[in-house]
Parts: sequence; structure tokens; C-alpha cells
Amino acid sequence: MENTAESGPASSECPDCHALTANLEAHKHWHSRLVHDIATAVDKDIDRRTHTS
Ligand SMILES: [Zn+2]
Repeated sequence: MENTAESGPASSECPDCHALTANLEAHKHWHSRLVHDIATAVDKDIDRRTHTS
């Protein structure tokens, strides 16, 4: 039987931002949403800048 859970609280460390989270799946979901929102905002900003004379 493998011991998957390491000693300590039932929280995992996020491989992306190294934050301790009790729900890594939800945290990763939050990451993808955040990145998507930022990417969309940056894209709109670039589009706005290029179209501004
Ligand atoms: Zn994270």
C-alpha cells in the first residue's frame, strides 16, 4: 500500500505559484480562469492601442 499523503495537513502545494491549497483542483481551475481573464484583457488593450490614432 502506498503512502500518498505526506505527513502534515491535507493541503497541497500549487506547482505554479507554490501556494498551499486544500483543494488543488479548484485552485488550478482558478488559475486557468485568471490567466484567461488577463490574456483577454491584455488582448483587448493591445487592440485598443493599435486602433487609437
Ligand atoms: Zn497556484
